[in-house]
Amino acid sequence: MTDDLCRFFVPGPTWVRPAILQEMMRPMIGHRSAEFRDLFRRINAGLKPLFDTAQTTFVVTATGTGVMQAALENCVARRVLVTTCGAFSERWLAIAESLGYEADRLDVPWGKAVDVDVLADHIASRRARYDAVTITYNETSTGVTNDVAALARVVREESPDTLILVDAVSALGGMPMHFDEWDLDVCLASVQKCLALPPGITVTAVSDRAFARAKKHPYRGTYFDFVQYAARAAEDSVPSTPSIPHFYGLARQLDDILRGETLERRFERHQQMRDITIERTSHFAKLAADREVASPTVTALQPVKSPDVIRAEMKKRGYTLGGGYGEWKETSFRIGHMGDITIESLEAMLDALTEVAAS
Ligand SMILES: *Cc1c(COP(=O)(O)O)cnc(C)c1O
Repeated sequence: MTDDLCRFFVPGPTWVRPAILQEMMRPMIGHRSAEFRDLFRRINAGLKPLFDTAQTTFVVTATGTGVMQAALENCVARRVLVTTCGAFSERWLAIAESLGYEADRLDVPWGKAVDVDVLADHIASRRARYDAVTITYNETSTGVTNDVAALARVVREESPDTLILVDAVSALGGMPMHFDEWDLDVCLASVQKCLALPPGITVTAVSDRAFARAKKHPYRGTYFDFVQYAARAAEDSVPSTPSIPHFYGLARQLDDILRGETLERRFERHQQMRDITIERTSHFAKLAADREVASPTVTALQPVKSPDVIRAEMKKRGYTLGGGYGEWKETSFRIGHMGDITIESLEAMLDALTEVAAS
């Protein structure tokens, strides 16, 4: 970086502060050492308020997709309901099918959020029980935020034994999460989105209810066995060699978020970034998502001009924007405004984008 402004606006991985990269260059320690246990305790002390939970939290050395698979392997014996509203929520379906589960899908058109009443009706009308329901907190392909609290509530009311698995990948650290209050069972987030670390690890919260279920499944595999993760976490440890540089970076980042900026101000900054982005692009691009459910962390735009031309022109000015995704690949582009990006950087990027879109 030649200046303090971030020019990287991809919706994951996101820009990483130099201080975090520096932190990740510390000398190696053994993962069975007292130093590592201290590091683990520091991280776990930060993960509890991040997830807002008193239940088990841990870090898995794998990206979010790995822990999505883990959540299904640990929590589902036979049937799962997948709520979908875009490409990332559909990933749950692909994983469930690859594992041989019976997966039903409850879909809404791209740009819309999952409908709470439709979910309630669907679960109430099914006589066969679902082992789990999957919810995607923030659909990164469309820039839509789902109402996890309300969706979880209807699942719990209509089917108390059904586990609730939440992908919070592009949400955690950028918008509120109340794991215990919302009564969730698994919540996972890769760290390269709102937590603004390099990709490679995933923070995870698991309920006591989910552990009880996992213990009944004899074949949970080894690497992703939540029961082993919990047993090790109780000793401030992990089952296998973790990405230690990431642990250093995460410990520092959690300190900076919780004690420096604070979660409250971080969430406010993300909402501001959404509002500024929508406001300042409205005269040259259509917001792809419904405005009421537009995400605080990523905005998908359908511009009048070709999205490819816009992105190429921005690249010439040193700015990287995200491409369109899936069904919207040709017609849209995305601005990731999550993690440690400042309002000042966003405004500077939008100045350039306004020029590019008008020329
Ligand atoms: C990025 C993303 C993923 C994929 O995560 P990986 O860390 O690349 O495995 C899954 N879900 C959502 C909502 C995402 O934004």
